[in-house]
Amino acid sequence: MTSFAELGLSETTLQALRDVGYTEPSPIQEQTIPPLLEGRDIIGQAQTGSGKTAAFGLPLIEYIDPEIKDCQGIVLTPTRELCIQVTQALRAYGESKGVDVVAVFGGAPIRTQQAQLRAGGQIVVGTVGRVLDLITRASLILHDCRFVVLDEADEMLDLGFLEDVEKILSRTPSGRQTALFSATMPPPIRKLADRYLYEPEVIQVKAKTLTVDTVEQFQIEVGQKDKAPKLVEVLAAEKPTQAIVFARTKIRCDQLFRTLRDKGMNVRALHGDMSQGSRDGVMLAFKGGRVPILVATDVAARGLDISSVTHVVNFDVPISPDVYVHRIGRTGRVGRSGRAITFVEPKQQSELAAIEKHTGVTMTLWAPGAKTAAAPVHEKPHRHEKPHVDKSVDQEGPWAKLIVAAGKAEGIKPADLVKVVTSAAGIGGEAVRDVKIFERFSFLSVPEGDSKRIIEAVSGADVKGTKLTLEPVGAES
Ligand code: AMP
Repeated sequence: MTSFAELGLSETTLQALRDVGYTEPSPIQEQTIPPLLEGRDIIGQAQTGSGKTAAFGLPLIEYIDPEIKDCQGIVLTPTRELCIQVTQALRAYGESKGVDVVAVFGGAPIRTQQAQLRAGGQIVVGTVGRVLDLITRASLILHDCRFVVLDEADEMLDLGFLEDVEKILSRTPSGRQTALFSATMPPPIRKLADRYLYEPEVIQVKAKTLTVDTVEQFQIEVGQKDKAPKLVEVLAAEKPTQAIVFARTKIRCDQLFRTLRDKGMNVRALHGDMSQGSRDGVMLAFKGGRVPILVATDVAARGLDISSVTHVVNFDVPISPDVYVHRIGRTGRVGRSGRAITFVEPKQQSELAAIEKHTGVTMTLWAPGAKTAAAPVHEKPHRHEKPHVDKSVDQEGPWAKLIVAAGKAEGIKPADLVKVVTSAAGIGGEAVRDVKIFERFSFLSVPEGDSKRIIEAVSGADVKGTKLTLEPVGAES
């Protein structure tokens, strides 16, 4: 296995990777980083979940000269959500080098973005429409922008943005370096690549290694009328930490949201008919872990990267195998595992068979507590037992999940938590797992038998000036 250092990244970037906790490159990163560092154009066939953002993001950060204030690199995204996500990732990778990343997207005041561009923006990450708008208003000048990334080009095509993409490309220097990422390669994308890329290296990461091998996939045959009650049953049995339920249309999305809400569930809906403000509110609540269940349409949830999503439920069979792979890419992210459950009406079995053919994975029939034959070894078993303590049970014994009242906002990193727990409680690092850091809180799991002692030993410990408090998840306060 190649290391990040062997790929040719600088020490500053390697330090940034240690800070974000990436220990080894994912396949797309291993193959994409060296040619991009050499200045070559690439076509990367990879989806969300493969680690593609770092695959282009790290060479892009390396490329930026921090002394030059002009826009030197641009990343075009099909949606606002992906734009924000890519921006956050690039900021994390480029922070220590002092690279200034500005996000520009529709649905937010253009004036603020114009001001941000006047103040800086060595890298601009933007949605196609807004970028073009800013170019037209002469607020964004791409004369010196020699590193161009088209992220999720097939989504841009689906949304009808390809012509605008070409307009933007024509504003950049012809000697630029271009990286095009697309999960699929329909003819218009190939044509675009032929026209705008120079002898690109084509890098393909097979769908199976992309998203599917860490995800256990299930199917449930259910008639149209019984779907909603079945969903309630599935959610009750699976007890997801976070789940996205996909519905085919906005109307179904809303109906389902109401059904679940009326059952007393903490659930939100996300679809394109909602105002940008309410969509943002829902995204924040879900990303922050405050809402466990999100009912969404594909467009609204496109590119969403939520590392804590444990379950994806396809309430309707996805309209194509590609959509299926996109959807289940929201769980089982790099190094983690998840469960995907697809509802199939009897007459839709052939559509399901097409998906299975595409992914090469046969979906197991779902039942409460069901496992697939090839359950990932690091799979987190589903939780049950006492309702107020979130326990996991595996071959080594039960684990208890703890919540820490501090997170990113306090500068907490996974390594800080592992260090303080192991030193204060005198246990080995292997006894701390599933560390997840959110904005204002964090989670970690420890052996159930040691949890009380760990809570006592660690509570009050000082990490980066914050006194930690720990509690079992779900404990009554
Ligand atoms: P992406 O496909 O770029 O959306 O990345 C998917 C997720 O994997 C994000 O949460 C990244 O932070 C994470 N990730 C990317 N590369 C690595 C890596 N080499 N090791 C661990 N996690 C990674």
